[in-house]
Amino acid sequence: MLRSFLNFNSVSAFIRFSDVSDRSFEIRLSSSGETPVNSLCRCRLPTHGTLAEGPATALRANATIQRRNGVGSAEMQQLADDLWQLSGFPRHAVNVYVMGDALVDAGMRWDRRRILKQVGDRGLTTHVLTHAHLDHYGASKAVCETLGIPLWCGTADVEAVEAGKMVRQGGKLVPAAPAVPVARGLREGDEVAGFTVLDTPGHSPGHVCYWRESDRTLICGDVMFGWHPFLMRGPVREPFESFSADPQRNRESARRIAALEPALVCFGHGPPLRDPAKLAEAVAQLPR
Ligand SMILES: [Zn+2]
Repeated sequence: MLRSFLNFNSVSAFIRFSDVSDRSFEIRLSSSGETPVNSLCRCRLPTHGTLAEGPATALRANATIQRRNGVGSAEMQQLADDLWQLSGFPRHAVNVYVMGDALVDAGMRWDRRRILKQVGDRGLTTHVLTHAHLDHYGASKAVCETLGIPLWCGTADVEAVEAGKMVRQGGKLVPAAPAVPVARGLREGDEVAGFTVLDTPGHSPGHVCYWRESDRTLICGDVMFGWHPFLMRGPVREPFESFSADPQRNRESARRIAALEPALVCFGHGPPLRDPAKLAEAVAQLPR
């Protein structure tokens, strides 16, 4: 059982995952400020959904709170040369980056507006994914269609993206996000906007990272999380096993990226990390 408290300006959210493995999930919100959140007081997910619906629902509730409170900024933050992180709420919860003229990942389905608002006039030419999960290509279809740009992703994730699905542990495809045609399957060594594609399978079959040797910058997707994604704090950690298609293979990918000793790591979830020792420490603790 996992219990967590998430505190915002005017709202406390109590979230209980009675058992992540059976997908039972409950969320209760109470207002301590002026924002009424009665409509979000309690919901229980149907048990036929995907495993990822637990955190997805929590983040959706957060997005609703954000809209009601007017919280959040539309400013992108520059992290390195030609690399920006889009703003979002909660900050660093579901990360989207601009890498040169490429958009990296597209969050959840409802992130469409914040993405288009922040990147609308930047002249992006490509949208690339780290992997085919619902919290990374949720808004990809809308973004690609609105901006008229192609989608590229790891070759082994093409089938899932084009079917609007994601691969669960054991290889089963389950519904994830609106399907998008993939214009190019990325492979180890391909170049995208000054970054090199690294094959890092495990969390999804076609998971890729983007690596720039010149300043040792790594866009690492979900090979590792920058923090606990529900508590939104804590040290670097591996993704929950139940969310990875092949956890053992993902650990091999984690050891690979840690060996690069990246000076800057940009996670799918969690704040940017500029201390390679913290990544190395977390990876060293992974079971072999
Ligand atoms: Zn993710």
